Amino acid sequence: MLEDLKGKVCAANKELVKQGLVISTIGNVSGRDSRKEYVVIKPEGVSYEEMTPADMVVTDLNGEVVEGLHQPSGYIHAHCFVYKHRKDVGGIAHTHSPYATSYAVQGKPIPALLIPQVANFGGDIPVTQKYDMKQKYGIGSALVKAMKNNNEKAVILNRHGVFTFGNDSAEAVKYAALVEDLAKTYRAAGK
Ligand SMILES: [Zn+2]
Repeated sequence: MLEDLKGKVCAANKELVKQGLVISTIGNVSGRDSRKEYVVIKPEGVSYEEMTPADMVVTDLNGEVVEGLHQPSGYIHAHCFVYKHRKDVGGIAHTHSPYATSYAVQGKPIPALLIPQVANFGGDIPVTQKYDMKQKYGIGSALVKAMKNNNEKAVILNRHGVFTFGNDSAEAVKYAALVEDLAKTYRAAGK
């Protein structure tokens, strides 16, 4: 099922590597089907290099596996929580890209210091509160709580990394690359 979406989500995951946003098996991208019933996500423990569309895992919006040869990414419940709260979101990316994550180290939002950030992200990129790792929806609820306008395209996950949200999986990866680029520029400027 959802063969087209599996192809797109697989390609979006591989794009994280091409963009230099992830190493090893870190990071994950998902996409939601157009009827908003299912999520297609990267499998747990399969390398980016070996990954094919057939390895993608289909779950319902509660993160229960509907189809798949593997377990879904361990972040599936964070993705599902955001999908349930953001009807506009059709793709989610999560990375630990270093410059964006340097703000997570400090627990600080990325302030809108350049016009392109305002154009792409509408303003500051918020940061979550610290979250409870033991809770199934600890990450998801922290992300949603940090969204003040409910249309954010990126949120810094405190002491962890960054999540980005797009119309589809490719757009989520595009925002992941843009956040990293902005953060790198700010750090070069000593911000
Ligand atoms: Zn992570």
